[in-house]
Amino acid sequence: MIMSANAPNLQAVRQKIMTQVAKSGRQAESVRLLAVSKTRPVADVWAAIQAGQLDFGENYAQEGVDKILALRELLRKLPPDTPPDFAPIWHFIGPLQSNKTRLVAQHFTWVHAITRLKIAERLSEQRPEHLPPLQVCVQVNVSGEASKSGCAPAETRELCHKVAALPRLRLRGLMCIPAPTADFAAQCRPFAALRRIFLDLQGEGLALDTLSMGMSDDLEAAIHEGSTLVRVGTAIFGVRKSS
Ligand SMILES: *Cc1c(COP(=O)(O)O)cnc(C)c1O
Repeated sequence: MIMSANAPNLQAVRQKIMTQVAKSGRQAESVRLLAVSKTRPVADVWAAIQAGQLDFGENYAQEGVDKILALRELLRKLPPDTPPDFAPIWHFIGPLQSNKTRLVAQHFTWVHAITRLKIAERLSEQRPEHLPPLQVCVQVNVSGEASKSGCAPAETRELCHKVAALPRLRLRGLMCIPAPTADFAAQCRPFAALRRIFLDLQGEGLALDTLSMGMSDDLEAAIHEGSTLVRVGTAIFGVRKSS
């Protein structure tokens, strides 16, 4: 067994989630933790799996696929009595270019950052028949900054209805990456805005269950505003080297 250096960090993040969930009067199981493993070696992911973590997020298609295949090899070597739910679930959370959609459709279970119909259509066409539909979220630019990617709030409704109609995708919800700020009330605002759009779409009959919002520095505000999935990198694996 590899000693997992990030196990205490994982435990601390889980504790932080539990504390905020309780403070916000929500159910303990209502928030899913996604460990963002971009730029981290396979050994870090392996250690996190051994510490009970199953959901992982990657931003770069080729790096992610290399890791997925390496982990599959490691898992194949586990003893036969290993529980079946020991297998990681891979989420593609980065911006997605047309030339990378096939790779992502073939290897990932989730895609969080759908911002245009064209990308969603390609993913639906390229999702292999033997796999279940790709689980997707539409990314919304709730802070309205030109530099941040995401669908404009005014265009979200139309995009979501079109994505939901694609045969090989299953629209699960919305995602956002607001501009960083240290102030709790300011962190809450864009998350609350995303939640309002989410509730409107549910009201229009879309069966959505996922609000992908909150990272290392704003996960408490996100949980306070109804996040069902937080994407945490730094607080689990440490500070990333800038590329
Ligand atoms: C890198 C990244 C994260 C994790 O950010 P941390 O601040 O390291 O927790 C979450 N979501 C997305 C989309 C990312 O690219």
